[in-house]
Amino acid sequence: MSDCIFCKIINGDIPSQKVYEDELIYAFRDINPVAPVHILIIPKEHICCANELNDSHKELIGHIILTATKIAKAEGIAEDGYRLVNNCGENAGQTVFHIHFHLLAGEKFDRMV
Ligand code: 5GP
Ligand code: ZN
Repeated sequence: MSDCIFCKIINGDIPSQKVYEDELIYAFRDINPVAPVHILIIPKEHICCANELNDSHKELIGHIILTATKIAKAEGIAEDGYRLVNNCGENAGQTVFHIHFHLLAGEKFDRMV
């Protein structure tokens, strides 16, 4: 998607602070962190949001979540705990329509659910 900022980040057209990359996914630090550790994990495939997921994405989504746990260990946040968040759609506050998972940590969060 030529007008998607996250596709541009994956392509290197927009600079980012890379945390992890493999053939399927890319992880980088959020430009406007809301927690001491705030990492975004995204698929390289442009998928707008969770509404666009189908059975072909099962492995990809599992890979994202497993990688989040590995990043958490590498970042030293696994023991104290972290939150993995996906916002889907406007009511959830999604602002970038390339599916992404926020890995948040470094402080104690208020409970939402
Ligand atoms: P959403 O609100 O869609 O769940 O999350 C989008 C996130 O992308 C926000 O936390 C925002 O700060 C981050 N973001 C938006 N543009 C950029 C950018 O150009 N670079 C980086 N690193 N993060 C971005
Ligand atoms: Zn995209």
